[in-house]
Amino acid sequence: MTENKFYIYNSLSRKKEEFKPIIEGHVGMYVCGPTVYGDPHLGHARPAITFDILFRYLKYLGNKVRYVRNITDVGHLENDADSGEDKIAKKARLEELEPMEVVQYYTDRYHLFTDALNVQHPSIEPRASGHIIEQMEMIEQIDKNGFAYEVNGSVYFDVKKYNQAHNYGKLSGRKIEDMLENTRTLDGQDDKHSSIDFALWKKAKPEHIMRWKSKWSDGFPGWHLECSAMSTKYLGQQFDIHGGGLDLQFPHHECEIAQSTAANGKESVKYWMHNNMITINGQKMGKSLGNFITLEELFTGSHKLLEQAYSPMTIRFFIMQAHYRSTVDFSNEALQAAQKGMEKLVKSIEVLGKIKPADKSTVEIQTVIDATFTAINDDLNTPIAISKLFDGVKIINSLNDGKETISKQDLEVFIKFYNDVVFEILGLKKEEANSSDNTVFNNVVDLLLQLRLDAKANKDYETSDKIRNKLAELGFEIKDKKDGFEWQFKG
Ligand code: ZN
Repeated sequence: MTENKFYIYNSLSRKKEEFKPIIEGHVGMYVCGPTVYGDPHLGHARPAITFDILFRYLKYLGNKVRYVRNITDVGHLENDADSGEDKIAKKARLEELEPMEVVQYYTDRYHLFTDALNVQHPSIEPRASGHIIEQMEMIEQIDKNGFAYEVNGSVYFDVKKYNQAHNYGKLSGRKIEDMLENTRTLDGQDDKHSSIDFALWKKAKPEHIMRWKSKWSDGFPGWHLECSAMSTKYLGQQFDIHGGGLDLQFPHHECEIAQSTAANGKESVKYWMHNNMITINGQKMGKSLGNFITLEELFTGSHKLLEQAYSPMTIRFFIMQAHYRSTVDFSNEALQAAQKGMEKLVKSIEVLGKIKPADKSTVEIQTVIDATFTAINDDLNTPIAISKLFDGVKIINSLNDGKETISKQDLEVFIKFYNDVVFEILGLKKEEANSSDNTVFNNVVDLLLQLRLDAKANKDYETSDKIRNKLAELGFEIKDKKDGFEWQFKG
């Protein structure tokens, strides 16, 4: 029988735990979304796809899921620090735009590309700037409970005091003594009592444009606060899953735990999940390294590191071929292999749909089905699940070759299994004509027209007219040029 318990790796306990929602049949999940100040890139694709699969699978298991993924549009300062310019305000200054124009533009771009990747929309997508009041209320609560202090109109979280009652560093496995040791030399930049304290509210400098009135000062909330405030508002003081990239584990998520615990007196998240990072040809992706690839560049092939365009489903399939807690390395070779693999899988499902059932089965399909779900239930082990799907492709091939037979009942089960796993859970979709098909198509038409030119040069007008007329019948518009030809497919 299938192992039908769903296990997820909890970053907090550092082990796999059976997933049991706080309220049976209902799941609340929160994932840190993008800071919308630049075009979506590869680094955005991975958490979007990872938590999309989780969202899809939790629903597939019959849960009602409320999935909240925020848009960060204020308070995220340069270098993720407590000082420096707001990332969005900086972009707005450079582009001579209102900050909310920047926010709208890149939010739209984020949706455009995640839609292409077949990422389902979350249930709620709140913006930090729309929840300033909730954030102020949370600061007041933290302050009332004695874990905050105000200096010159800014409010800071008192990490040392918090650590006396709770454990700051429990998620990232850091000790506050080590953190103090490592950050001591970096201080002198603001009014904090200690270098490990972090801002809940910052007084805005005169040139800072994104600001709100508060009892402390005209200012803006600290970056970590929005997620604590918005998750509490939409999912309650305690909820099931909090996800995000591994790069957010410290300090962002560590601070979130501290804020929610300091405000509510209890921890808010039952399971913490983190996706690992993407590397490119073995290197970390970074603007200074020249290997920073946006999703648009990837889908159009317009980056010097790319040999061709890669379709959104190729990217999705490629990302799923690694376990979400492992790093995944992008290279042309690996992407081309993923493209072939995905095409083979999707074609096999089409073949399966055309198989004629027999009186009885000579194949055994349950092993493949069970093994696939066991892999998914094992902390969303998509690479193993995909390899099991390919074990099933061998069965499909033997049925198609007529070497084996399958009963009507088994065939229905097998078709449903592939549709459920590949399209509903893994979220792949059929692409109209993918880039490699297009290339083959273009090459074939070019070849025919070259043959026509050769025929003409040999005064074989019968052949050249035949090719031209036949292509015109099929909907091609052909123009002869001095140095060759041009064609267009009108359909
Ligand atoms: Zn967050």
